[in-house]
Amino acid sequence: MAQLTGKTALVTGSTSGIGMGIAKALAAQGANIILNGFGDAAAIQTERAQIAKDNGVDVLFDGADMTKADQIEALFTNAQSKLGGVDILVNNAGVQHVSPIEEFPPEKWDLIIGLNLTSAFHTTRLAFPGMKAKKWGRIVNIASAHALVASPFKSAYVAAKHGLLGFTRTIALEGATSGITCNAICPGYVKTPLVEKQIPDTAKARGMTEEQVIRDVILAAQPTKQFVTVEQVAALATFLCSDAAAQINGAPLSIDGGWVAE
Ligand code: NAD
Repeated sequence: MAQLTGKTALVTGSTSGIGMGIAKALAAQGANIILNGFGDAAAIQTERAQIAKDNGVDVLFDGADMTKADQIEALFTNAQSKLGGVDILVNNAGVQHVSPIEEFPPEKWDLIIGLNLTSAFHTTRLAFPGMKAKKWGRIVNIASAHALVASPFKSAYVAAKHGLLGFTRTIALEGATSGITCNAICPGYVKTPLVEKQIPDTAKARGMTEEQVIRDVILAAQPTKQFVTVEQVAALATFLCSDAAAQINGAPLSIDGGWVAE
């Protein structure tokens, strides 16, 4: 039997990139899945049906905007009535904006703090009672190398990810005697739409070509000179949901080719 059979996993921001990879990996271990995020409705439905068929699990889609507390609450009501609650919570939805501080748009600051940090507060407070009642829960926060170190021109993102790591440590302590773990995965650069979109802005902010940004900024940060893959991050998230990881709690787990070792 797959090790997560009978569990339900909510993966926020799972219509693309890392979130979609984690949703597929958890489904492969037998978990029912709640997909979330934005995108083309028909493409999302096709993906939803395919994950269900490939793995013989229930897969729901809930398009809640994770910056809106009322929509997050409605998602949890939906999860409770259709799948019996959320056993595995992966806080993954996130956006980036790259610009010098004096030009940083305040509305981008609010969006990044709201999505990359505050949404995890709302999902966690709503998931916690059910996890405590079942004496089992896994919370995996997709932070970043930027939860541990900074880069210029990413003030909101670095602040949100550092905040998410502090939040992770707090929740780890609050769930520790209830069979709940909470950890932060800290990836380096993974080639997803989030990274592809920031290349032109980084080129502008640093006065470089896009090729120079990939070589001298992005891959320069990673001693292996390679991107991390979605599948590698998904495998780590899946491991954190296993019984073998029951004593890993409150940890920042780097998966960055050695970036923060420097
Ligand atoms: P992505 O752009 O491929 O995916 C982001 C997902 O979030 C999409 O499904 C999108 O629809 C969803 N989303 C955006 N706004 C939303 C909202 N308001 N409500 C609900 N969903 C929303 O990006 P990704 O690279 O897969 O990033 C996923 C996470 O991984 C983010 O938290 C990001 O900060 C983190 N991360 C990414 C990298 C990287 O190099 N790609 C590195 C470290 C950390």
